[in-house]
Amino acid sequence: MERSLEEVWMATGLCTNLPPSTFFPRDGSGVDVARKICFDCPVQTQCLDYALANRIDHGVWGGCSERERRRILKRRGTAAPASVG
Ligand code: SF4
Repeated sequence: MERSLEEVWMATGLCTNLPPSTFFPRDGSGVDVARKICFDCPVQTQCLDYALANRIDHGVWGGCSERERRRILKRRGTAAPASVG
């Protein structure tokens, strides 16, 4: 069976063999640890693009925290509308 594009790059990421909790840190120093791993990752660009396109709002993806991704989306004018309710 053929793998999707996401499955291919995700399998190449440096986080593949690390505990997922590394990329869902509880504080700023945890974010820095995750970021350093991402910056050496061969699929950092694909990962960040995926997180932005899918509006993933938890964890460090492609070397960016939630807050950084929100900033990028805002700059691009593509931030998700605030939920009403
Ligand atoms: S950029 Fe970071 S989160 Fe994304 S695949 Fe690479 S190591 Fe994993």
